[in-house]
Amino acid sequence: MPAPKPQRVLVAEAAIAARVAELARAIARDYAGENPVLVGVLQGAVPFVADLMRALPIDVTVDFIRASSYGAGTSSSGRVRLVADLAVEVADRHVLIVDDIVDTGLTLAALKRTLEARRPRSVRTCVLLDKAGRRETDVTIDYVGFTIPNVFVVGYGLDYGGLYRNLPYVAALDVT
Ligand code: 5GP
Repeated sequence: MPAPKPQRVLVAEAAIAARVAELARAIARDYAGENPVLVGVLQGAVPFVADLMRALPIDVTVDFIRASSYGAGTSSSGRVRLVADLAVEVADRHVLIVDDIVDTGLTLAALKRTLEARRPRSVRTCVLLDKAGRRETDVTIDYVGFTIPNVFVVGYGLDYGGLYRNLPYVAALDVT
């Protein structure tokens, strides 16, 4: 069966670029002189991290972590498994987890707990997209790009069965 086609553009390329610049200004102000570790969550956060890091006028260290994902499905299992760890030590560092989207919040909450156990100076979170109405845990999101409704989205790193990560915009996908 062919994969469903992305339909409605939800966040256009120019809107993403403008918001990334604003987030970078806020992050640069908050972390001035701190050399934080940006922890990108593979694979979905790759375009976001790439754009965000280049918009940051401060020293940062960039690394990636990989948690188990949805696979080809569209709903959270609620379980998180680390399948690739950081190369850098985060003890005594400021950590900013950068992810593509927060839905139930279970993934970010688990990643945050995992990194907090390594005795960093702080752990904050930054996501491009927030499905705020879907939260099942009270994890704090410190920097949010866009709050979106409960629709399944693809593009700008987000996939459906491995497809559409390369789209430069975020689109809603009808998967019914
Ligand atoms: P959570 O643990 O917050 O429920 O889920 C977070 C993860 O679920 C995201 O990192 C992403 O991999 C996946 N996810 C949640 N909503 C969507 C969506 O609308 N589209 C895609 N492609 N992935 C999603």
